[in-house]
Amino acid sequence: MAKIIAVTNQKGGVGKTTTCVNLGASLTATKRKVLIIDMDPQGNATMGSGVDKHDLELSVYDLLVGKAHIYDIIKKQVPAGYDLIPANGDLTAAEVELLDLDFKELRLRNTLNDVRELYDYILIDCPPSLNMLTVNALTAASGVLIPMQCEYYALEGLSALMNTIQQISERVNPALKVEGILRTMFDPRNSLTRDVSEQLISYFDDRVYTTVIPRNVRLAEAPSHGLPVISYDRNSKGAKAYIALAGEVNRKTKAERAALVPA
Ligand code: ADP
Ligand code: MG
Repeated sequence: MAKIIAVTNQKGGVGKTTTCVNLGASLTATKRKVLIIDMDPQGNATMGSGVDKHDLELSVYDLLVGKAHIYDIIKKQVPAGYDLIPANGDLTAAEVELLDLDFKELRLRNTLNDVRELYDYILIDCPPSLNMLTVNALTAASGVLIPMQCEYYALEGLSALMNTIQQISERVNPALKVEGILRTMFDPRNSLTRDVSEQLISYFDDRVYTTVIPRNVRLAEAPSHGLPVISYDRNSKGAKAYIALAGEVNRKTKAERAALVPA
């Protein structure tokens, strides 16, 4: 049964898409079955996975508005290695059309029931806002992975995100929790980075991943080749960091499952 993780932060440019693509590819390298769902009309996760967003017959838009079945939309083993539900600008229309549909928060969740058994992880790349697309992702997920750039304005907006998570868990998805806070574009030489990092740890404690993602130019270059960093430059610091993160995510999942088995 897949663990469904929404990669969310309403700030843009904090590393959501980079994390989805590279954590997805690294988990695939550890022999886990992974599905990535691109929920951002910008389609960056789609392009970064080696799929042309301008050349899609079906996309997550068709899934959300019920125009096609999920089996027909999933692209199997895209160049990045995992399975993908792609997105492009069509998704902007879904945001509006969803408002008129019944059970509008539950659209994504309900369609995933048919494929949850097929994967170990389903990662959802969210858009940079707390809109109906993000609400669908949070309603479908069991955990939220929050990438954070440790800089001055980083913590601003975090309380709005925590409120949204709280509301969704009270209203429709009691299982929802913060899976982990991921420090991205990390520069340990910067004292502000260290300060913000300490604040995160004092608030979120062991929910902050031990793995940090350094600022690394290879991570920024890889998407223009439609490749995850482990395929583009396996020995880069960025690749090593995401491989380490996959290990941490797997260990956490294993520990949670072990705790669920009755003694
Ligand atoms: P988001 O999805 O949150 O908007 P992205 O993952 O697209 O953020 O990252 C924003 C920009 O920063 C992209 O150009 C990406 O390539 C770059 N980037 C992301 N993480 C890193 C990193 N660790 N080091 C260097 N560049 C990064
Ligand atoms: Mg993005």
